Amino acid sequence: MTPNDEPGAVVSDADLPSAAPRLDTGWTIRWIRLSADVLAANRAALNTLDRDIGDGDHGENMDRGFQAILPKLDGLDDETTPGSVLKIVATTLISTVGGAAGPLYGTAFLKAAGAVGTTQSLDATALVALLTAARDGIVLRGKAAEGDKTMVDAWTPAVNAASAAQTAGSPVGAVLLAAADAAAQGAQATEPLVARKGRASYLGERAIGHRDPGSQSTSLLLRAAADVMAQH
Ligand code: ADP
Ligand code: MG
Repeated sequence: MTPNDEPGAVVSDADLPSAAPRLDTGWTIRWIRLSADVLAANRAALNTLDRDIGDGDHGENMDRGFQAILPKLDGLDDETTPGSVLKIVATTLISTVGGAAGPLYGTAFLKAAGAVGTTQSLDATALVALLTAARDGIVLRGKAAEGDKTMVDAWTPAVNAASAAQTAGSPVGAVLLAAADAAAQGAQATEPLVARKGRASYLGERAIGHRDPGSQSTSLLLRAAADVMAQH
């Protein structure tokens, strides 16, 4: 029997299995690696969504971009910060993914990198800043408003939910979960909409009843972020 097994023994925080998650460089790298896995697994499903209301390549585009990031995450040095990982993601997506999604996600990750600066570990405020900057970058680049049936319809509810959770004093883990849940709901809520931006806008009312593929990939990315946090 060790001293800690004695009744009434004091257990330090470090002994608890559910010590508060840290959104540090390791988390950022694991997030992007899991995102690459999830996008590969959802490649066909995202292509199918894009075939319904676009040109059928969204899964292919996202998979190609994230696979190109993976080798760049190997052997990073000790100086690497969450922001520098996000910057690698941005530049790789911009250079390898064509179409609408490459520049949009590239800008999102670039602005997110700028928002977190040289922070080593994101607290709730930094996480909200990351999400807000990503969404603002997409809006700056693509000029879509909420309700236009684009990825903005997943990002904006995620930003709003994260911001509300942070304002209410929630820890960073709860803020990230709120963002992932809201993005999933936002993606689903694109189904009844008519598209006003991107290829789907050419379809008019025929886009009704189909989920926007970019909103779905956003939901997958934010769910991966939350899942990685929950694993560690
Ligand atoms: P492409 O439309 O060039 O084939 P993708 O299929 O990879 O590119 O990406 C399509 C997704 O990009 C759409 O589902 C939508 O979410 C997003 N998108 C397209 N145009 C815009 C825009 N102006 N603003 C925000 N998102 C957009
Ligand atoms: Mg497409």
